[in-house]
Amino acid sequence: MLQQLLPADIRGLDADATDSRIRAARTALGSKLVILGHHYQRDEIIKWADFRGDSLKLSQIAGNHPEASYIVFCGVHFMAESADILTNSDQAVILPNMTAGCSMADMANIDQVEACWSWLSTVTDTSRIVPITYVNSTAALKAFVGKHGGASCTSSNARNIVSWALERGDKLLFFPDQHLGRNTAADLGLDPAKDMALWDPAKADGGLTADQVRDSRVLLWKGHCSVHARFSVDQIEKARRDYPGIHVIVHPECSLEVVRAADSAGSTEHILKKISDAPAGTSWAVGTEVNLVSRLAHEMPEKTIFCLDPVVCPCSTMYRIHPHYLLWILEGLVEGEVRNQVSVPTEVAAEAKLALERMLAIS
Ligand code: SF4
Repeated sequence: MLQQLLPADIRGLDADATDSRIRAARTALGSKLVILGHHYQRDEIIKWADFRGDSLKLSQIAGNHPEASYIVFCGVHFMAESADILTNSDQAVILPNMTAGCSMADMANIDQVEACWSWLSTVTDTSRIVPITYVNSTAALKAFVGKHGGASCTSSNARNIVSWALERGDKLLFFPDQHLGRNTAADLGLDPAKDMALWDPAKADGGLTADQVRDSRVLLWKGHCSVHARFSVDQIEKARRDYPGIHVIVHPECSLEVVRAADSAGSTEHILKKISDAPAGTSWAVGTEVNLVSRLAHEMPEKTIFCLDPVVCPCSTMYRIHPHYLLWILEGLVEGEVRNQVSVPTEVAAEAKLALERMLAIS
């Protein structure tokens, strides 16, 4: 994804001057503009967001604001694609920095998934496999899933979607995050050792034998989130030693071992609600992106809240949305120029929408 170098007069601005120009541009655009901020964005961006949320919540909000001509999505590329699919054709969805991708979403591309499906068809009946894609995936993968009778899922509704898929077919193929797939299937009572197999796109035939495919109910794609892969059982044990009685809560993109060692697991919205609802004086060790954890700690000083990983672990691609990019986008809109519009081709969008709509109907 190409990102134009920002003009020198913007690159040289300090924080106060940047804020003042963002404020002016925002005021000039009025109700034509909606700014969405993902929970993992830095505070300097979140403060401009009309709405905060996880990827699905923000895409739904985008779909509920037909009056806005411009939806500026402060998140990563796949989120802006989902918002574009769920909004009207006369609305522009904009990603402030086009290099803000997602390393997990990049771990499965459409050619790899088509090749996997084609090989699976030589060893089993693919009409009995239900493909499920985590929303952290490209629109092309959502379209593949829509075309083959599957659905998207989020970390909030994965349990319902996987359950639906298991009732509907003999097997499911879950991509691109192996951990969300494994954690969800294990939570539904499946045995990771016996019922699941890992498809490695870097290996011939995914590194699987025909028997392994036939014997499994869940085929997991070998992808992961580099942020959530950092959390470990050792960190949880240390938190428990240092803070007796602490509640450990993690995101289901963490490994099965980490999820099992924690007290609870759930989406960013779940983590946020659980900690917000907890009484003062409680302590929380949190296994998710540090910008969200630091914000919770700042907003709730009456509770002890810290990130499980002592070495700060921001999502580096989310971090690419710097206030200078937001300013450049907004001033462009004021001047009548739409920059960095994310547009999913119509035929891809139609099939991807099927996957998203099925998900919304099931969850
Ligand atoms: S936190 Fe992980 S899954 Fe989320 S955008 Fe960053 S790399 Fe992707």
